[in-house]
Amino acid sequence: MTEPSGGSAGGALAEATPPAGAGPTEADWAAGVAAVQGLPPDGRVLLICHVNPDGDALGSMLGFGLGLRRLGVRRIQATFPGPPEVPVPFLGLPGLDLLVPATEAYPDPDLVICFDAAGESRLGELADRLETAGAALVLDHHASNTRFGRINLVDPHAAATSVVAEGLLTRLGVPLDAGIAECLYVALSTDTGSFRFEATTPAVHQLAARLLATGIRPGDISRRIFDTRPFGAVRLFGEVLGRARLEPAAAAGHGLVWTYATQDDLARHDQRPYVLEALIDSVRCTAEADVSCVVKQTTTGDWAVSMRSKGAVDVSRVAVALGGGGHRFAAGFTGSGTVDEVVDRIRAELDGALTGPGGR
Ligand code: 5GP
Ligand code: MN
Repeated sequence: MTEPSGGSAGGALAEATPPAGAGPTEADWAAGVAAVQGLPPDGRVLLICHVNPDGDALGSMLGFGLGLRRLGVRRIQATFPGPPEVPVPFLGLPGLDLLVPATEAYPDPDLVICFDAAGESRLGELADRLETAGAALVLDHHASNTRFGRINLVDPHAAATSVVAEGLLTRLGVPLDAGIAECLYVALSTDTGSFRFEATTPAVHQLAARLLATGIRPGDISRRIFDTRPFGAVRLFGEVLGRARLEPAAAAGHGLVWTYATQDDLARHDQRPYVLEALIDSVRCTAEADVSCVVKQTTTGDWAVSMRSKGAVDVSRVAVALGGGGHRFAAGFTGSGTVDEVVDRIRAELDGALTGPGGR
């Protein structure tokens, strides 16, 4: 996910970020096409998206998987590291039948394709497939992408990984159908914050138009993805937002607002971790702070941190310094220790990001 002032999805910020590199060359695209077209008869394809998948990760992966199916590829698995739990808002996605738990993923597929992962660490226990697969293709839009595939289709200007996925499907001659389109639309709308973020270019709207022309229903999709949550989550949000802290002097005076949620908070309200993904959108609207953070305790006791910026601070630099990654306006990392220790590290990096070399 991404964006400057965007929603819970990330991706879009890439547009406002100076390119860390150009997008794929024609030779890269040709290599991507050849990797698919060169599959042996009955070849096995493993699709992997990043841990704790969001709309762009799942949507681009499943949309592409449905496209492969239309090409006649029969042995396709889609998966992601960690527990095989699909967040409830995505349970209606077409192509979910492609999903298998990580433990059942082909150990040595003929082709592995990674979606929306900036680095191998985002693939967890599935990262070894980059070595064991016959060919390894990476589709992504993070400027911080480390080009860990053997073929890399990485476009830092793309609003979402789904834009790259659609580019490859088109080059493969796969026509959009409603199933593919719904997956790609979910991916595109989440990563552009419902077409609000800076990366929402004319090309994004043109792609959205092609997707909508297949007959998918944007109202139903948006309600399911963005506007539905259990009552317990509404109450949980009330509690967690009630403990938010505003630190106007932080980030060299640009301001920081942050809050946290624990496993105990989730248990008290009988909620699954995915509900916390939308929290950052309620926090980041704080007018007095450029930077917002939500610190979420994971089942291992570590803290998954979501950060957003309105533009004064490049939060991807903070995230990368703390072992994570992302985009200029939406980034994250995983930290250990107490909440206060994690937030202390963020405060220190925020000051460094603004005063250090290249700081603004
Ligand atoms: P979110 O806060 O929505 O989970 O993520 C915002 C952005 O930061 C996304 O582009 C996501 O891929 C990236 N991101 C979040 N957490 C991590 C992390 O632990 N490591 C890396 N490399 N990127 C992350
Ligand atoms: Mn993305």
